[in-house]
Amino acid sequence: MTDVKLAGLEPAAVFSYFEQICKIPHGSRNTKQISDYLVAFAKEHGIRYFQDELDNVVMFQEGTCGMEDHAPVILQGHMDMVCEKDEDCAIDMDTQGLDIDHDGTYVFARGTTLGGDDGIALAYALAILADQTIPHPPLEVIFTVDEEIGMEGAAGVDLSGLKGRTLINVDSEEEGIFTVSCAGGARGTITLPVSRRAVYGPCVRLTVDGLQGGHSGVEIHKNRANANKVMGELLSRIQTMMPLCLTKLSGGSKDNAIPRSCTVTLVAMGSHIERINEVTAQLQKEIREQFDEPEAVIYGDDVDAFGGNALSTGDSAKVIALLCAAPNGVQAWSQDIEGLVQTSLNLGIAKLDKEELRLTFAVRSSVNQEKRDLLARLEELAKFNDGAYSQMGDYPAWEYKQESRLRDTMVEVYQRLYGKDPQVVAIHAGLECGLLSDKLPGLDCVSIGPDMKDIHTSRERLDIASTKRTWEFLLEVLKSL
Ligand SMILES: [Zn+2]
Repeated sequence: MTDVKLAGLEPAAVFSYFEQICKIPHGSRNTKQISDYLVAFAKEHGIRYFQDELDNVVMFQEGTCGMEDHAPVILQGHMDMVCEKDEDCAIDMDTQGLDIDHDGTYVFARGTTLGGDDGIALAYALAILADQTIPHPPLEVIFTVDEEIGMEGAAGVDLSGLKGRTLINVDSEEEGIFTVSCAGGARGTITLPVSRRAVYGPCVRLTVDGLQGGHSGVEIHKNRANANKVMGELLSRIQTMMPLCLTKLSGGSKDNAIPRSCTVTLVAMGSHIERINEVTAQLQKEIREQFDEPEAVIYGDDVDAFGGNALSTGDSAKVIALLCAAPNGVQAWSQDIEGLVQTSLNLGIAKLDKEELRLTFAVRSSVNQEKRDLLARLEELAKFNDGAYSQMGDYPAWEYKQESRLRDTMVEVYQRLYGKDPQVVAIHAGLECGLLSDKLPGLDCVSIGPDMKDIHTSRERLDIASTKRTWEFLLEVLKSL
C-alpha cells in the first residue's frame, strides 16, 4: 500500500493512517472491510482486541512505563462515513477508495466526502497505539460502526468488559470546542391509511422548492422553512377554494434533514391554474418574508392528464389536516445553557404511497423526559386520526455532568498550551456519548476534534494545522490523566 498523497504532512503517522483509511470504502453499512483493517492492525501490533458481529472493534493496550496503574482512558470514534459525491464524479464509493489530496492548508477528496468525520479519530488512535514512545494510561479504544445512520454500532456494542470510565470522543469538528452534553433522540413515524379510486378532473402539480434545508440538530433554530409544512399550508388554502383529491405527495428524504422541497399532484375539481397560482404566489411572498428563505419558490402547473387514481376528498382533507397539525421545529430552549435548543423535532419525510400517508419526524432533546413527552404527542396525533405510530433509533441524551475530572484536565491543558480558554458547550445534535454513557455508568466524557469544514458534503475538508495541534493536545491530555 503506498500512501504518498499526504506524505510530508505532520504528524506523519496520523496522515499516513488517514490515507490508508481513505483507500478503503467505508460508508455506513459498508464497514466490514474497514473493521477487518483495524483487526489486522491489532494483530500486527500484538494488541488485544475484539470484533463483534456488528463489526465494532475494541482494542486494549497497557499503560506505558510509570502509568500502568492509572485509571484506563477510553478513546472513541466511528469508522463509517457519509458517502456524498458530485454528480459528475465517477468514483463508486461502495467499492473504490477516495481521490484524496491536499493544498497545504486542507486535506480533501476530489468529488466526494472525505470522511475526516470520522476517519481522523481512527488515524489518531492507530498512531497512538502503534507508537511505543507516547506516554499514556491504560487505553481502551472503541471503534463503532454506523454512527451516521442512527448510531447502530454504539447501540449494539457490548462494553461490559471495559474498565475505563473516562472517555474522549473524537467526533467534533471544531478545535478548541469541548462538547460535554448532547441531545438524545428518536425517529417517530405516523402512518395514516388511505384508499384510492379513479377520479376525473384536471390535474395540477404543486411544487415547493428552493428552501435552504439543513441539519435537523444543528440548524433547526435557524428560521428556515420546512417544505412539508409549507405544502400543508398551501394545500389547506387551496382546499378552501375547491374540492381536491391527492394523487401524489413527496417531500424530504431523510428524517434528520430539514426538507428543501415537496411536490404534490392532485385532481382539482373545476380548477383554474390561475386561481391556484394566486395562492402560491401569495404564500411564496409570505414564506420569503417570514423565514430566511430568499430563494423559496412555490408554484403550480398543469399536468397533461385528466384524473387519476386518487384519494377521496375526505381522505385528502385528513392528509392535509395532519400535515398542518404536525408539530415541527424548536419546542423548548434550555434554561441552563444560553442559546441551546433543548427540544425540537423535524418533519423530515412526508410520503403518500398507494395505501398510506407516512410522516417521519426526527425528535431531539437533551432532557430525556421531554423527548418522551414529545414522542407520546406524536403517538396521540396518530391515534386521533385513526392512524398508526412506530418508533425507531431511540438513543439517550448525554446529560451535563457537574463534576468532571476529564473536562477540568482538558481545560487546564488547553490553557497551558495555547494561553486561552476553550469553549465548553452542549449541542443539540446527537453523539454516541449518550449511548456510551448509558452503558458505562458514571462515565466522564468530552468530545473534541480538529477543524473540519462542510462535513457530509463533497466540499468536506480537514484542516492540516488544526489536525497537528489537536494531536499534540490529545497527547498532552493522555499524559496528564
Ligand atoms: Zn461523525
